[in-house]
Amino acid sequence: MTTPVTLSPAPTGTAVLSGIELARTIRGRVARTAAELTAAGTLPRLAVVVANDDESSAWYVRSIAKAAAATGIHCEVVDLGPDVGPERIRAALRTLSDDVAVHGIMLQTPLPPDASVEDLAAAIAPEKDVDGVNPLSLGRLAAGLPAFAPATAAAVMALLDHHEVPLAGRNAAVVGRSNVVGKPVAQLLLQRDATVTVCHRHTKDLAELTRPAEVLVVAVGRIGLITAEHVAPDAVVVDVGTNPTPDGGLVGDVDAAAVTGRVAGLTPVPGGVGPVTTALLLQHTVRSAARPAAT
Ligand code: NAP
Repeated sequence: MTTPVTLSPAPTGTAVLSGIELARTIRGRVARTAAELTAAGTLPRLAVVVANDDESSAWYVRSIAKAAAATGIHCEVVDLGPDVGPERIRAALRTLSDDVAVHGIMLQTPLPPDASVEDLAAAIAPEKDVDGVNPLSLGRLAAGLPAFAPATAAAVMALLDHHEVPLAGRNAAVVGRSNVVGKPVAQLLLQRDATVTVCHRHTKDLAELTRPAEVLVVAVGRIGLITAEHVAPDAVVVDVGTNPTPDGGLVGDVDAAAVTGRVAGLTPVPGGVGPVTTALLLQHTVRSAARPAAT
């Protein structure tokens, strides 16, 4: 069951725009495709390259590997350790790109201080770039050409569609402009005919720009950044932020207590964008595995 959001001017409550059911549906589809591919002789394989000893990164990689295994995808973690140089990471990405048995490649962050995703992502073959970080993938996305969108950005759009949020002609604001979330979300919203405002660290008056938004996507990484003064009463708010709390929990960038009862809909953290992101990463991997091999 989806939860349709009515963008009424005076909402009586705030719909919880969960990603749990959508993620389950996507994983079900992925499992069926993976089983067909495996039966036909192609075991879908995702490689995750790790060059850190960060605990939250390790947790995320374990959750991807677990979800992959549950859907019949082989997930190989290539752990290079935290002290590796950029050339060694680039070489690993090139080797995986050349390996016909690998269908999806993901470069996990954080990276060592002298390495950057922007510099290394070009070493991921675009057809295996299931998290859409290669500049070619980002450029194709901006040009409206077929490409894997970054999984988180794709998850934002999938959640909005799942909850039947109209986009064409709507005012949308995106807070955050990273290559993995903010910019590609803005591009995808534009492709759906929303009118998009992008905010960032240097935006002078954030509330003045977010308040007119009928759809607000927040991807910053700062607890409590968005409060009641930043939202319209009828807004749909997608909270991409994931911030660890001292008690081992996770909260978003939106002060959920402050905006609940005011906005039409809000994605929860956890249980919103996160599970859909992982499911779409797997979906991209089976799509890549299903593509006929280049001749
Ligand atoms: P990032 O690369 O650090 O980018 C953060 C963005 O926020 C930057 O564009 C920055 O602006 C902007 N910003 C910082 N302070 C701001 C402020 N006070 N007002 C307005 N904008 C501000 O982070 P990211 O990788 O995009 O991730 C953003 C958040 O999403 C993090 O919490 C991350 O953990 C989470 N995330 C969640 C998922 C998921 O699956 N749920 C996936 C990826 C990321 P400047 O460009 O001007 O510096």
